Amino acid sequence: MSNLAMRILVTGGAGFLGSHLCDRLLKDGHEVIALDNFFTGRKTNIAHLLGRPDFELVRHDVIDPYKFEVDQIYNLACPASPPHYQYNAIKTVKTSVMGAINCLGLAKRTRARVFQASTSEVYGDPAIHPQPESYWGNVNPIGIRSCYDEGKRVAETLFMDYHRQNEVDIRIVRIFNTYGPRMHPNDGRVVSNFIVQALKGEDLTIYGDGLQTRSFCYVDDLIEGFVRLMNQDAVTGPINIGNPGEFTMLQLAELTLKLTGSASKIVHRPLPGDDPKQRRPDITLAQKHLNNWSPTVALEEGLGRTIAYFRTQV
Ligand code: NAD
Ligand code: UDP
Repeated sequence: MSNLAMRILVTGGAGFLGSHLCDRLLKDGHEVIALDNFFTGRKTNIAHLLGRPDFELVRHDVIDPYKFEVDQIYNLACPASPPHYQYNAIKTVKTSVMGAINCLGLAKRTRARVFQASTSEVYGDPAIHPQPESYWGNVNPIGIRSCYDEGKRVAETLFMDYHRQNEVDIRIVRIFNTYGPRMHPNDGRVVSNFIVQALKGEDLTIYGDGLQTRSFCYVDDLIEGFVRLMNQDAVTGPINIGNPGEFTMLQLAELTLKLTGSASKIVHRPLPGDDPKQRRPDITLAQKHLNNWSPTVALEEGLGRTIAYFRTQV
């Protein structure tokens, strides 16, 4: 990894992952510009950074072009939770596609290295398990998740085409479900929903039978993977980053009840359309190319830290 201090742009910098990335980049001695339209991000996530001479916050929407003189760009701007990205599906497609074009245009002009936050959703409801990067996926192009899944797939296409056609220096990460402090309490994702429900003594809402699986990565492990991928020269990606530990939603609900000590009950609600039945990353490539990167925080430990955060919020 480079020891040189750089000026780095983080789109979506006031969001859950973006704010942790800003913290990490500043800690590594870089100058950071966080760009955000505050659709799902919050100033409170980066309030502790405001006023620092090495940090700037810019309110801007990535569907409109922008110009900065930077050395690296992390493109994270996009709502990530299903209720938020489905709230205005057309805007979600614009954010992914026009957001990618605008940041790639900037990277082309400035010769900055540019990093795309892609997603395990590009695998859709996967027919291959666990999912390696070579799997092309099983995605519904016209369903309620398509604005996000297909938007992210087109963004990957654009990154690869700018790389092949214009020699833009790209990195692509496929992020599997990540959780931790600073998730929005009303985010709608399963980890924050269960914790907030347990802490408020409300029923934990399992969608469907609860036997669908996800693999949950603690945020610090993910950010370490981001920085390693961005600062190595061997591969562009796409590369999976996630924790291969796989849990059913029923197991997650029970663990949340145990760790919060809550007396809440588990209830079942209808399963939303196109909800993937199983998901687990194959992280062989990340281990090979990212200096033996592996997740270090087990679900129970990470959930404990996340619960401690939410106790201060609800
Ligand atoms: P988040 O919703 O907390 O953060 C997204 C940020 O982008 C927010 O601050 C939001 O205000 C901002 N944003 C949205 N649309 C924008 C626009 N048009 N212009 C400018 N800013 C905009 O979600 P997150 O979990 O931090 O996700 C960050 C990135 O990582 C997203 O691209 C998401 O698709 C990807 N990702 C996250 C996960 C996960 O489990 N957290 C999994 C896969 C992929
Ligand atoms: N889920 C659930 N209860 C909730 C929220 C989500 O059972 O209150 C389920 C959801 O149907 C999915 C899994 O948990 O099967 C993960 O959902 P999330 O929205 O966190 O992420 P994604 O589906 O995008 O992986």
